[in-house]
Amino acid sequence: MSVEFHQSLNQYPLPDVAREAILANPTFGTHFTDHQVAIYWEKGRGWHQAEVIPYGPIQLDPSAAVLHYGQEVFEGIKSYRHEDGSIWTFRPAENAKRLQKSAKRMALPELPEKLFIQSLHELIKVDGSWVPEPEKEKTLYFRPFIIAAENYLGVRAANRAEYRLIASPVGPYFTGGLKPVKIWIALGSARAGRFGTGEAKTGGNYAASLLAQQEGQDNGCSQVLFLDAETGEYIEELGGMNIFFVKKDGSVLTPSLDGTILRGITRDSIVTLLEDRNIDVHQRKITLSEIREGMNSGEIIEAFACGTAAVITPIGQLISTEETIGNENAKPGELTVSLREELTGIQYGRVEDRHGWMHKLGVK
Ligand SMILES: *Cc1c(COP(=O)(O)O)cnc(C)c1O
Repeated sequence: MSVEFHQSLNQYPLPDVAREAILANPTFGTHFTDHQVAIYWEKGRGWHQAEVIPYGPIQLDPSAAVLHYGQEVFEGIKSYRHEDGSIWTFRPAENAKRLQKSAKRMALPELPEKLFIQSLHELIKVDGSWVPEPEKEKTLYFRPFIIAAENYLGVRAANRAEYRLIASPVGPYFTGGLKPVKIWIALGSARAGRFGTGEAKTGGNYAASLLAQQEGQDNGCSQVLFLDAETGEYIEELGGMNIFFVKKDGSVLTPSLDGTILRGITRDSIVTLLEDRNIDVHQRKITLSEIREGMNSGEIIEAFACGTAAVITPIGQLISTEETIGNENAKPGELTVSLREELTGIQYGRVEDRHGWMHKLGVK
């Protein structure tokens, strides 16, 4: 089943020189390609009218439900240019499925997997020249999202929704390269509770994390670590990334997915790559005190964060209003660096894709 996308091309695409200037040095999420995809949904009618249109504002009534009750879900997925010029993306079916799960949790319509993947192809068809050259970790970042578009202030699931896909050329998420980042432990704030929306990729989770993120930034940290909402003892994840720890005995720890943590596709891929190397990966509950003691005693030798945007980023210190764990001058861990090399190698086509993770989007 392939749907007909109506195409209305941008009459004023950015001139080549201007695009090249952006692609030479892209920052995260500030520039967007010439087009976007829109697919509309209505209760009783389903998904209908798929189109590729010029990039530009979404027309929304001030009473549109998304503006009031935050009924919204999104994804983050990248496209990579390989040395031969071809354009690829990474495990798109996983993003499609997660978008469906998130949508279901937020009482939004589920976009069929095929339509999701087709939308990526359609955007690359018109904006393929926006995928940067494979250097300095440059990629074209896709942001697919669904919003409640019904004009209605009553509180119930919206009867109209819109899927949109936009794309932004990006450089590294953290500008410091592989320099280990400092993480702020959010002691007075939680991002997700039992039976809450922690497993859904929804804007509200991010809105709830921003105050702590701001506090972290004020304290020299670049991301926030959230503990579980019930006891405040267990490590869950960062505002937009999952977390791993490496022990001296070679084994690896990451918090288990208990419903309050986002199921990262990078996290899942790392677990697979570690298992390929016969490394023991323990997915279980991890207390902050276990990490504190481990990092202080040398039992835990590496920590890293992971997600599509930041790939794999070494963590140097965990800092809160009460303590500082870890060393100011920590170096990136050996396993952290080698996993990063392997994962980005697969994504850029330099390392064999043993698991069939790469999906070709285009050739130009
Ligand atoms: C998107 C996201 C992640 C990372 O997921 P990936 O699929 O690896 O990009 C982790 N935590 C949160 C809260 C997220 O929103």
